[in-house]
Amino acid sequence: MGGVPAIREVQFSIIQNRGCFGGCNFCAIQLHQGRRVTSRSADSIVAEAERMTHEPDFKGYIHDVGGPTANFRFPSCREQMLRGMCSGGKHCLAPTTCSHMIVDHSDYLKILRRVRELPGVKKCSSAAASGSTTPAPATVPVSWTETAPSSPSIP
Ligand code: SF4
Repeated sequence: MGGVPAIREVQFSIIQNRGCFGGCNFCAIQLHQGRRVTSRSADSIVAEAERMTHEPDFKGYIHDVGGPTANFRFPSCREQMLRGMCSGGKHCLAPTTCSHMIVDHSDYLKILRRVRELPGVKKCSSAAASGSTTPAPATVPVSWTETAPSSPSIP
């Protein structure tokens, strides 16, 4: 008796970001989390994963280190940090990918690798990555993490 049966689906998953600049018609995330992506620090995510490894039910599998917006960790472009999200019907992904958009998952991949290397973790995965169909621009810009101001973080 007791407990929350549905918790099993998410018990060993970690939220790494909030917000989405996708704006898909079937999804309400941007209405309640906003269109600007904010992310937890890598250290906070890894610390949560490490705590999970001590839970009695943990079998070595972290099912999702993820969140909305196909796991992007930063705002969609540098202009957005200066002027806010575009308005007037301009969208980051539709009808085509905006040329200002920064497509870079290097920071996210580093986090997945850090989590995977924790003692007790056999596998960690991303539930959203396999569903992403966002086309990348022809030229992938310099990594955001090398040049851009730090992203606002979820404490
Ligand atoms: S400039 Fe492009 S990528 Fe940046 S917020 Fe506007 S539509 Fe999105």
